[in-house]
Amino acid sequence: MLELKTPREIEAMRVTGTFIAELLDDLAGRAKPGVNLLDLEHRARHLIDKRGAQSCYWDYAPSFGRGPFRNVTCLAVNDAVLHGMPHDYALRDADLLTMDIAVSIDGWAADSARSVIVGVPRAQDVRLIEATERALAAGIAAALPGNRLGDISAAIGAVAAEYGYLVNTEFGGHGIGRTMHEDPHVSNRGRAGRGLELMPGLTLALEPWFATSTDKIIYDDDGWTIRSADGSRTAHSEHTIAVTDSAPLVLTRSEHAAVAAR
Ligand code: MG
Ligand code: MG
Repeated sequence: MLELKTPREIEAMRVTGTFIAELLDDLAGRAKPGVNLLDLEHRARHLIDKRGAQSCYWDYAPSFGRGPFRNVTCLAVNDAVLHGMPHDYALRDADLLTMDIAVSIDGWAADSARSVIVGVPRAQDVRLIEATERALAAGIAAALPGNRLGDISAAIGAVAAEYGYLVNTEFGGHGIGRTMHEDPHVSNRGRAGRGLELMPGLTLALEPWFATSTDKIIYDDDGWTIRSADGSRTAHSEHTIAVTDSAPLVLTRSEHAAVAAR
């Protein structure tokens, strides 16, 4: 079922989204060589509890996972990209860390992911992250009323193609609102002009992710962590957005970033 949100409901989602953006800012600032992934997970738990927010990942149990997910963050390093299970690992110089967080405040969810480089970056990783960020921006720009879902997918896929990255279509974006995952699915590759017509009040999490040299994935033994099948590095950028009667609203920007963008 597809539920359009009222401006008031979108504003409630923006409150949640702003909190997530600030949480990602906080974690990104802590992601230094030597810092353990479990330290980042515990920091996130602390801030989520303090805010009175509920993690959408805690006890998350979809068909593909193994048992409920007992963490509030997805932390994925290098070739890991989605549903990275926080574990005892100290970050190393030049690691590529992807952080993905979804929480709910007063019943309204938001979802955002960001890839950052720990310590001194490698040029190819900077390029990979830039591609997912540009693909996300292109997807957001296509989220206009009267456009179709395929326009968003095509815009994301075009940026991947421009950079020479392949697109996996098993995991992509999704509707979001009262829960983290709602209809519709938003593929990171598709045909312009096809699919659902975008309407004001539609709220979506757009989340391009690419691996350097493959579109195939493998799962860790933990049943959750998804990696590139060839071990190449990956990046992932996600925002929760709302389609309006004019330009889309990005709901998961920190106040700081929102001011900078004006
Ligand atoms: Mg996410
Ligand atoms: Mg998501």
